[in-house]
Amino acid sequence: MNHKKMQRMLSAFVDNELGEVWTKLVQEHLVECASCQQRLQELRSIRARIRDAATVDLPDNFLYSVQRSIRREEQESVMWLGTERFARNVVFALCVLVFGVVAFGSLLEPQPTLGEDRYISGEPSDSAAHAVLGSEQVISKEDVMIAALSK
Ligand SMILES: [Zn+2]
Repeated sequence: MNHKKMQRMLSAFVDNELGEVWTKLVQEHLVECASCQQRLQELRSIRARIRDAATVDLPDNFLYSVQRSIRREEQESVMWLGTERFARNVVFALCVLVFGVVAFGSLLEPQPTLGEDRYISGEPSDSAAHAVLGSEQVISKEDVMIAALSK
């Protein structure tokens, strides 16, 4: 039996997973192979450390403290959700309020729009207004007054 094949069997040998025949073959190889003996020691050491890590003693109240921590986290998240919902409602109410104030304000104060179109189309037959308005690009209140007075 060759060395490489034996080395691959060592893990199963440590775990007692080999049948009677293979166990005997591995044992015979181990007697004459220092390399496989060393590998066997490493595997047994690893198995022992894994076993030790798995058997950690937990304090008696471990389960209780875990449950308490989970419950506290849940309560905090619920509280935070309530705060978040409240803040969202406040922001929404402020948006509605600002929108309402702006809309109501613009209803109360209709902005007079001074534009050439309004005066020309409003008084298409007023040649004096056309004369004044047509000569300048920008219309001021004075232009409108002049146009109205010189009619
Ligand atoms: Zn060997």
